[in-house]
Amino acid sequence: CGIFAYLNYNVGRERRYILEVLFNGLRRLEYRGYDSSGIAIDSDLAFFKKQINGGGGAARGEDSSWPSPSGSAPPLVFRQEGKIESLVSSVYTEVDEMDLNLEESFNVHAGIAHTRWATHGVPAPRNSHPQSSGEWNEFLVVHNGIITNYEVLKETLTRHGFTFESETDTEVIPKLAKFVYDKAREGDQTVTFAQVVTEVMRQLEGAYALIFKSSHYPNELVACKRGSTLILGVKELTDNKNRRALFHDVKSLTKNGQPKELFFSSDLCAIVEHTKNYLALEDNEVVHIKDGCVSILKFDYGKEKPASVQRALSV
Ligand code: GLU
Repeated sequence: CGIFAYLNYNVGRERRYILEVLFNGLRRLEYRGYDSSGIAIDSDLAFFKKQINGGGGAARGEDSSWPSPSGSAPPLVFRQEGKIESLVSSVYTEVDEMDLNLEESFNVHAGIAHTRWATHGVPAPRNSHPQSSGEWNEFLVVHNGIITNYEVLKETLTRHGFTFESETDTEVIPKLAKFVYDKAREGDQTVTFAQVVTEVMRQLEGAYALIFKSSHYPNELVACKRGSTLILGVKELTDNKNRRALFHDVKSLTKNGQPKELFFSSDLCAIVEHTKNYLALEDNEVVHIKDGCVSILKFDYGKEKPASVQRALSV
C-alpha cells in the first residue's frame, strides 16, 4: 500500500543511515494501512564470499554461475509480516547474525521499501515485497496496486521455466523483467534498465506504481506508474548558486554529477522531511536514475520517447 526508495549519489552514507531512511519512509506511509513490509539493500561481494566460506552457502560456492549471473553481489532482501517495527527489529537481528557491517559506507546506494496491503495472497513473508525474479535477486520490485492480467502472465512465464514462490499478482513483474533481460542478452543486445521496464509495462494491465532494483544495473533505479500515485524527490547537497534554476527543470538534473539524494514515495509526506523539490509523476512516465542523473520517458504504447524532461519540479 506504499512504496519508497532512497538513492544516495556521491554522498557517503553508512548502511545504518540508509536503513533508517528506508524505515522512516515506511513509518510515514504507515497511515495508509498495511499488513506486512519489506526492504532491499545492497550487499558486497566480500560479504557474500565470507558467508560462503563460513559454511552456509558452501554448495553454492561450487556453482559455476558464482558470484551471480550479474557478477555483482545480490541485493539483500528482508520481509516481515505485521508492524513496521517488527520488520525493523528483525532486520537488525538478521544483520547482526549475518555479521553485516552497519558502519560500512556507500558512496552510491539504491534501497527500496514497501508496506503491503494484501490483495492477492495472504499476509506472509513470501508474499511481502520486494518480490524477486528468483535466485540471486537479479530483479526486485515493490508494487502498489493490482495487476489484473497476472494469471495469464504467470502461465506464460511458467511455460518458460519460471517457478513462483508467492501467490501475489506482483511476482510476475520481476520475473517478466528477468525474461526480457535474458532474451535481450541471448540476442547479444545491450538493453538499458529503462528499456527492460518499458517492455515489462507493455505486458502489464491494471493499476500500479512500481520501483525496480537490479543487480544487473547496480546503483540505478527505475520507477513507473499507471493509476497509482508516485512522487520523485531530489535533494541537491551542494552549495550551488543556481540551485533554484537547477531544480526548475528536470533536464538540468540530467546534466550534473553533483552529490544528491533521490527519493520515490507513494506519498509526499515521506519526502518533505528530506526535500521540497519534488515531482508528482504522471501516468505512463518511466523515471530512470543512473549515474545520479534523472531521465523521464513517457511510455506511449510502442513509441517511448523522452517527452516530459522539461517538466518543472515544484520548488
Ligand atoms: N497487489 C499487490 C499484493 O497483493 C500489492 C498490494 C499493495 O498495493 O500493497 O501484493
